Amino acid sequence: MAKEPKPQEIISQINYKPPQKSWMNLPVERKEGMFCYGAKEKSLQTVDFPNPRTWSVLDEDWKLPHNWQEIVLEGMAERLKKYRSFKIFMDICVRCGACADKCHYFLGTGDPKNMPVLRAELLRSVYRGNFKNIGKVLGKLAGGRKLTLDVLKEWWYYFYQCSECRRCSVFCPYGIDTAEITMIARELLNLLGLNIEWIAGPAANCYMKGNHLGLEPHTIKNSIDFLLDEIEEKTGVRVSPTFNRKGAEILFVTPSGDLFADPGTYTCMGYLILFHELGLDYTWSTYASEGGNFGFFTSMELAKRLNTKIYAEAKRLGVKWIIGGECGHMWRVINQYMDTWNGPADFLEVPISPITGTKFENAKSTKMIHISEFTADLIKHGKLNLNPKRNDHLKVTFHDSCNVARGMGMFEEPRYIIKNVCPHFYEMPEDTIREKTFCCGSGSGLNASENMELRLRGGLPRAMAVKYVQEQYGVNMLACICAIDRAALPPLMNYWVPGVDVTGVTELVANALVMKGEKERTTNLRGEELPNIAK
Ligand code: SF4
Ligand code: SF4
Repeated sequence: MAKEPKPQEIISQINYKPPQKSWMNLPVERKEGMFCYGAKEKSLQTVDFPNPRTWSVLDEDWKLPHNWQEIVLEGMAERLKKYRSFKIFMDICVRCGACADKCHYFLGTGDPKNMPVLRAELLRSVYRGNFKNIGKVLGKLAGGRKLTLDVLKEWWYYFYQCSECRRCSVFCPYGIDTAEITMIARELLNLLGLNIEWIAGPAANCYMKGNHLGLEPHTIKNSIDFLLDEIEEKTGVRVSPTFNRKGAEILFVTPSGDLFADPGTYTCMGYLILFHELGLDYTWSTYASEGGNFGFFTSMELAKRLNTKIYAEAKRLGVKWIIGGECGHMWRVINQYMDTWNGPADFLEVPISPITGTKFENAKSTKMIHISEFTADLIKHGKLNLNPKRNDHLKVTFHDSCNVARGMGMFEEPRYIIKNVCPHFYEMPEDTIREKTFCCGSGSGLNASENMELRLRGGLPRAMAVKYVQEQYGVNMLACICAIDRAALPPLMNYWVPGVDVTGVTELVANALVMKGEKERTTNLRGEELPNIAK
C-alpha cells in the first residue's frame, strides 16, 4: 500500500494551472494510492460477468480478449441507441467550463482530467472518433480519437476516480450529468472484466448471500444479539426484534455496514431502540440484508438484479411496506431507477405510519420510506419522549449525502430531527450543503484502503467546510444518513479536521429518547459519560 502523504504535502502539490500540452497528449500516470485493486476472477465469475481472470492494474498486459475494441465499440453503439440521455450528453456539451471546478476530485488533485467536462471528453472523444463522420475523417482536429489500449487504461483510471455524486450536473446549464456518463463508461469497462475488487467483491457477496459483507443468516443474528446486549447494558431495557417473520406489517432494510463497523453499529442500536419504543410490527430479513447496491457501480443490469431481492423478500414475507435505514445509494436506486427496472411495487401498500396515521404519498410507487421521513413525522406529531439535553455536549453539523440529498431531494427531514434532539446545530457554508453538497470522497465503491490518497484528496472540500464550522462554532460532531459516509468520513475527519467525530442521525435520536422503563442513563450508546445536566 502506498505511503500516505502529510496534509501539507497534499495541499502544496495541488496546482490548478492548466498544463502546457493538450490533454490528449498528456500520458496517464497510474499513481499508487490513487486507484483501487482490480476485480478478482472469482468475484466476476460469481455474477457471471465477462473475462474473469487474474490481473493486476500495474501490469502492462490486462489480459483482455483479442477483440476487445470491437466489444467496447459495439457496447457503446448499443447504449447510444438504448439511452437517449447518453447520446444527448455525448452531443451537446459546449465546453463552457461551468462544471470544471465543481468536482471534489479536481479540487483535491488539480488534475485536469478530473474536471467533469474533461472526464466526459475521455469517452466523448472516442464517440466522435468512431461514430461521427467529422471525427472519423479529421480525428484529433475534430476532437476525435481512436480506442487504443492507452485510452482504455485512461478510462479505467479516471472513471474509477468519479464517485457518481452528480455535483457537476447541478452547475451545467445543459443539465449534462457526468455521473451517468461514468456509469456508462464503467458498464463498457465491465464488458472486458475491468472492475475494481472493492465493488466486484461486495456485489458478488450480495448476489450470493444478500449483503455486501457476505454475512450468513446466523452471523447477522449474532451481531444484532451483541447490539441488544449493549442496549440492555446502557438502558436497562431488553429489546427483542424478529427475523424473517411472515405477516409482519413492515420489512426493515439497512446497509449491512451498520451491523458491524462503528459508528454504524450505534446507528443500528438506534433503529432497534426506536422501533422497540414504538412497539412497531416489523421484521428484519437475513436474506434482503443489504440496503446498498454495489451493482449500481457496475452496470444497470447488476443493480437491477440486486435491487430485486428486497422486493422479492417483501412479497415472500407478506409485509405491507418497507422502511429503509440510513443508506445513500439505496435511495437513488429506489427513487430514480427502480420503477423502470423492476416496475412499481404494486403488491405492497402505500406506507401509512401505524403511530401517526400519516400516509406517505411520496412513496406511492416504491412503497418504501426512509427512516428519517418516518422519524421526522413521529417528532412532528409529538410521539417521542425526547430529552435533547443528553446531546448537550455535541455541537453538530450535517453532511448531506449526495444520493439522498441531490439524488432524491431529502434536505429538511434530517435537519428537523437533529434540531429536535440536539440543542446545538450549525450549518456548513451554503455552497457545500443541500443540492450543492460535497461528496465524502469515497462514494460509488471507492471506499477502499489502497486508494486512501485519492479519498483524502477527494474529501478535501467536504473536510474544509467542516473545518470552517469547527473553527467558527466549535463543532465536534458530523451527522449523516448514509452508511458509506459513516465509514468514509471518520478517516477523513481524523486526517483533515481532528476533533470531529461522525454519527448517524438515528444514533442521536436514540440517545435523546427517554424509553419506557429505562434505568437512569449514565452513558450514551458509545459508553461515553452523559453531560451532568442530563442525569
Ligand atoms: S459526478 Fe461527482 S465525482 Fe463525478 S465528475 Fe461530477 S462532480 Fe466529479
Ligand atoms: S457545464 Fe455542461 S456544457 Fe459546460 S462544459 Fe460542463 S458539461 Fe459541458
